[in-house]
Amino acid sequence: MAYQVTARKWRPQRFDEVVGQQHITTTLTNALHSGRVAQCYLFTGPRGVGKTTSARILAKALNCKDRSQTPDPCGQCPSCVAITDSTSMDVLEIDGASNNSVDDVRELREIVRYIPTEGAYKVYIIDEVHMLSTAAFNALLKTLEEPPPRVVFVFATTEVQEVPETILSRCQRFNFRRIPTTLIASHLEKITNEEGISADQESLYLLAHRADGALRDAESLLDQVVSFSDAVSAQTVGEVLGLVDRTVFFDAAQAIAAGDGARLLDLVAAVIDGGGDIEEFVRGFVEHSSHMLFTKVQSSADKLEVADTERVRYEEAVADLAEQDLLRIVQTLMELDADLRNSLQPRFRTELALVRLAHMGNAVDVGRLLSRLASLEAAVGAGGTRVPPRRPTSPASPTAQSPAPATRQRAEAVDQPPPPVPPPIREEGPEAEASSAVPTPPPAGPIDVNELQTHWPRVTHVVRETQPSAGTFLQEVTRMQLEGSVLTLFFAPEERFGMGQVGKAHEAVSSAIAQITGHQLRVRCSPDQGGGGATGQDPTPAPQPPKSQVQPPAPVTGPPQQAQSGDKKDLTPPVRAVLDAIDGEIV
Ligand SMILES: [Zn+2]
Repeated sequence: MAYQVTARKWRPQRFDEVVGQQHITTTLTNALHSGRVAQCYLFTGPRGVGKTTSARILAKALNCKDRSQTPDPCGQCPSCVAITDSTSMDVLEIDGASNNSVDDVRELREIVRYIPTEGAYKVYIIDEVHMLSTAAFNALLKTLEEPPPRVVFVFATTEVQEVPETILSRCQRFNFRRIPTTLIASHLEKITNEEGISADQESLYLLAHRADGALRDAESLLDQVVSFSDAVSAQTVGEVLGLVDRTVFFDAAQAIAAGDGARLLDLVAAVIDGGGDIEEFVRGFVEHSSHMLFTKVQSSADKLEVADTERVRYEEAVADLAEQDLLRIVQTLMELDADLRNSLQPRFRTELALVRLAHMGNAVDVGRLLSRLASLEAAVGAGGTRVPPRRPTSPASPTAQSPAPATRQRAEAVDQPPPPVPPPIREEGPEAEASSAVPTPPPAGPIDVNELQTHWPRVTHVVRETQPSAGTFLQEVTRMQLEGSVLTLFFAPEERFGMGQVGKAHEAVSSAIAQITGHQLRVRCSPDQGGGGATGQDPTPAPQPPKSQVQPPAPVTGPPQQAQSGDKKDLTPPVRAVLDAIDGEIV
C-alpha cells in the first residue's frame, strides 16, 4: 500500500474520533438525531484543530445510506466511500483562497440550483471563507437568504473577524478550540502504539508542545521525526526540531538560584557550541520557568502539561526558589524574548540578562524578619539586652541560599504588606525605665526619613498594585532625602531605567505615601552620586537619632560595595542583637 502521511491516514471518520472538540461534535450529533440541521454553519478556530474534518463527517452523516440509529456515518456505503475519496457529486469542497472572485460564486450559485443526485443533501464546504472578495460575499448572500432545500453550507475560517456581519448572522457558529497538549500527546501515543513505532512519553510531549494546539501539525512533526529515526526519543525529537535539551533549563534555573553567573555563561556556550539556536533556548527557558512558577504557585506539578517523569523534576527544582524569584525570572525572560527579535547581538543580550538574574539575589520574606524583630523587642523590653536564642535556619530557606552578603543586602520584599509590628511590651518598674534599649515611638508632627523607611514596603506594595514596574523598581532605591515636602529618591547610577520608571509614576508614589502615612510629599528621582549617608538618614534637616535607638529594619539599602563597611565591635549590645536576629549588617 502506498505511504500515507499520518494526518491523512488518521483523519477522524466519526464524530467521536475528533480530538478535543466535544462541545461541537455533541451539538452536531444532537442536531442530526433530532433532524434539525441548519442550512449554514460557520466553523472558526486555529488551523489544524479539526474544522474541515468535522465538516466532512457532517456531510457524510447527512448523506449516509446506512445511518440507522447512530448519528455517525457508516463509512461503508457508496456515499460514505465517495465522500472519503473526494469523488462525491454531492459534496463540494471549495478553497476560498483560490476561488474568491464574484464569478466563482456565481458559478456556485448556478450549481446550487441542481437537485442532489445520490444522497439526500448537497453540502458545500468553503474553506478559508474569509478570503472571498466583498463582491463574492454579496453574491453568496443572495443564496444564503433563500437557500434551496436540502442544501447545507459549511464555512471554515481561521479569521472570523474578516467575515462580514451579514454572513455571520445567517450561520450557526462553532468555535473550535486549540487542543490541549495532553490530549495531543495521548493521541500521538495511540498512533505510535498502533503503528508499532517506539516512542517515549517525554518525546511525544515535546512534539505536542511544539504543535501548539494544532493536532495536524503534531502529526506532521511525528512523520518528520519518524523519517529521521525509527525510534522516537527526546533526543531525536530535539535534533530534528532543533530543540534545546531540557536538562539545560533545569541546570540554568539551578544556577540562577545559586547566584552562579559563571555556570550560566558556560551553559549558554554549551548550547551554542552544540549547534543550538539562542532564540530557541530563550523561548524554551520562558516555557520552562513558567512551568516552575505554576508548580510553585500550585504547590504541585500535577496540572502541568508535561510527561509524568518530568513532574517530579519540576517539584524538586522549585524547592530552592521563592515565588517572587520565579515571577522575576519569567518576566525578565519574556522581555528578553521580545527584545531578541530586534537584537543584533542575541547571545550577548541573553548572557547579560541571565547574569543579571543570577545577581539579583533571592527574595527574603520581610514579614518573617519583622516577626523575629518583634519577638526580640519583646525580650529586650522585658529584661534588658537578653537576646532570644537564634532560630535554626532550615536548609531550604531562601536566606540560607543567598549567594553572598552583598546580594542578601539587596534582597527584595515579597509582594505582601508586612504584618504590623506589635508594640513593645513594657514592664513597669525602674529596670524598664532605665533600659536605654526600649524603642521610642515614632515622633509626632512632620514625617522624617526614618519613619518613611519603616513604611516603605507598604508603599512599594500599594504602588505595585497599579504600576507593577515602578513598584518593583522602588525597591532599588539606595537612599532617600527629605527637604520640606520634597522627597528625593536616589538610585544607583546604573539603574537609570528603573529610575525612569519610578519617575514616570511619581504621582502614584506620592499618593501611596499619603495613603499610608497621611503626609503629602512631592516625589522626585535622582542618580546617587555617593553624597549623603547610605543609611538613608536625612543628612541635614532631620535630627540624628540617638545611637542606642533600635533602628527598624531598613528595606532601603545601600549599593553592594558599601555593604561590608560595618564593624559590629563598635555597636551597642541592643543594636548588635538586632543585627544578629535579622542577619543584617550596618551599611
Ligand atoms: Zn454510509
